[in-house]
Amino acid sequence: MKILVAVKRVVDYNVKVRVKSDGSDVDIANVKMSMNPFDEIAVEEAIRLQEAGIATEIILVSLGVKACQDILRTGLAMGGDRAILVETDEEIQPLSAAKLLKAVVEKEQPKMVILGKQAIDDDANQTGQMLAALLGWGQATFASKVTVAGEQATVIREIDGGLETIAVKLPVVVTADLRLNEPRYVKLPNIMKAKKKPLDVLTPADLGVNLTKNLVTLKVQEPPVRKAGVKVADVQSLVDKLKNEAKVI
Ligand code: AMP
Repeated sequence: MKILVAVKRVVDYNVKVRVKSDGSDVDIANVKMSMNPFDEIAVEEAIRLQEAGIATEIILVSLGVKACQDILRTGLAMGGDRAILVETDEEIQPLSAAKLLKAVVEKEQPKMVILGKQAIDDDANQTGQMLAALLGWGQATFASKVTVAGEQATVIREIDGGLETIAVKLPVVVTADLRLNEPRYVKLPNIMKAKKKPLDVLTPADLGVNLTKNLVTLKVQEPPVRKAGVKVADVQSLVDKLKNEAKVI
């Protein structure tokens, strides 16, 4: 079966993001960008399903600016077979991302789509769920283990305070949680090989999708600055401060 994996280009998780001075957004000028970490886990899972003889082809899809090609090449170097960039300079909100992915799914007919559980830039945690609804497919979100047998997937999901095991019929949308796997490092020879793998570029118009905006960001703020700590002389003054200043005991 074909597996489609959605990979988003986001600010690298090591970068300390800064808010623009007018508070309109996060400043991404000259900032290192990388594949969303949960999407790396999604790619790794697809590769493991291919190594287990379940997936026959892995197609990576990214939606966004031309530079998204770099993360698609990274995914191809990890082990993806080919890639599709739906190129646009417009902002892509989760519902538009889901609509674009639906159009690619209809073209490619995969039996499974794996996405990250959330993109670490907008923290929306919406695209996979919306995609499943638009396709009318089952969904297995927050996956920490995926096994496929015949026309069914068994997925262990991370839920509050524990794990839930569900069975879902294929085709299915899966979203990857942190403990699903540990993505492999990309080896240099594979980076070279990935340069020759196919990467098709489409536009939203090619897929018949209008990029509508349902959300408007009103304001972005830095978290409040933490006050500096103080050194206390002894346990008695610590207890006193906790009791009378912090009022936590
Ligand atoms: P979100 O709903 O924005 O938190 O994103 C959840 C997941 O949807 C991400 O981890 C990606 O797998 C996928 N996704 C969202 N936006 C894009 C995009 N522009 N390109 C590719 N995949 C995306």
